[in-house]
Amino acid sequence: MINMNDIVGSHDILMITLDTLRYDAAVLEENHCPNLCGSGSWEKRHTPGSFTYAAHHAFFGGFLPTPATTNKKDHIRLFHSKHTGLPTHPNTWLFDTPDIVSGLQAEGYRTICIGGVIFFTKKVPLAKVLPGYFQESYWRMTFGVTNSRSTEHQVNHALKLLERAGMEEKLFLFLNVSAIHGPNHYFVPGAKKDSVDTQRAALRYVDGQLGRLFEAMRCRERPVFCLAFSDHGTAYGEDGYEGHRLAHEVVWNVPYREFVL
Ligand SMILES: [Zn+2]
Repeated sequence: MINMNDIVGSHDILMITLDTLRYDAAVLEENHCPNLCGSGSWEKRHTPGSFTYAAHHAFFGGFLPTPATTNKKDHIRLFHSKHTGLPTHPNTWLFDTPDIVSGLQAEGYRTICIGGVIFFTKKVPLAKVLPGYFQESYWRMTFGVTNSRSTEHQVNHALKLLERAGMEEKLFLFLNVSAIHGPNHYFVPGAKKDSVDTQRAALRYVDGQLGRLFEAMRCRERPVFCLAFSDHGTAYGEDGYEGHRLAHEVVWNVPYREFVL
């Protein structure tokens, strides 16, 4: 069982949101994702938000996806706001700031956001809100959903930052992966529309690129605690639904993993 109080302060922290990845697609690709699933399987969880904006505010507030069971009370949260009057577990790290990003900053972390989908572009005021949680935030056209090599560009950018970062620095690196979000049909040659199959192909591509990031993080002085999960799924016609920002099990069930690199 992870004791977050042993992690914060001693580990670099890498948080990756695999934007729009469905739980079923993630499970079907598990054997082809040696980087994300090399040390274990996806856990089925419920997301606190049905689309990027809502879900990420919850995550940064310390509300990560919860186990997809009826027994929520035995779930030990990694992060919790201090002084709420609610009981908390000794393994939970308590922050005394509005969110975990500024909380980690208060603990001496350098906080970095590498954006992907539209809510991280910083092009309009709304798209500056989520990146605004961080001391540093980056977004390029090549990181976005329209670029078929977006993860490669995002990872290259992260590697450049890591090269220049001091080994002794404590890093909280957040990466919003855009490749699995629609459109993703171009990951299957000849496919005309997005589907579970094209999402699976996008995930394989993403996993391949994340290997370089994991390797670079492993070369740093501190051990690395990695959180990798989806912010929400998406519907491909199930019960008539298309997309997300709606309530359906293909949206609220998400894959979740936590591991030390
Ligand atoms: Zn999203």
